[in-house]
Amino acid sequence: MQKLYIDFDGVILDTIETTYKIMDNLKIDKKNETEVIHFFQYLDWQNILLVTPVINDSINCIKRIKATNKYDISILTHVNSYNEIVQKIKYINKHLPGINIIVVPKEKSKTKMVDPRGAILIDDYKSNLREWKEKGGIAIKFSKKMREYPYPIIDRLDKILEM
Ligand SMILES: [Mg+2]
Repeated sequence: MQKLYIDFDGVILDTIETTYKIMDNLKIDKKNETEVIHFFQYLDWQNILLVTPVINDSINCIKRIKATNKYDISILTHVNSYNEIVQKIKYINKHLPGINIIVVPKEKSKTKMVDPRGAILIDDYKSNLREWKEKGGIAIKFSKKMREYPYPIIDRLDKILEM
């Protein structure tokens, strides 16, 4: 079965937008790496996952992809804290039972956690896609809105079934 890795933040849930809004409210300078790391380490992920909207029906799309039995699906997500790990596992187990979740420490490449060779990664982050492709993986860009891009691009996860 084709290995398919799906990113979480910015692909399944719009946590990027939620967390950036909170940072703005707290007047955190997003260019200050120390401040941002500190913010993410102490973030209440139970609340974040509760208030953040799903992007373009991603949960149902993943269920649809799984139902085809063509892909061995895992969620492959960067994490900044123990709380983030616990809450993301809880979320995936609840909303996508039977789907694996693999957590990667923020400072490590996703390609160090799993073997990218011949596997698909759907991700919204350019650096992740570049590393994935360099290591022999198939990189697919996810974006909420379709636009020109050097990689294949999708705005709904189940569009992978048409590729
Ligand atoms: Mg992402």
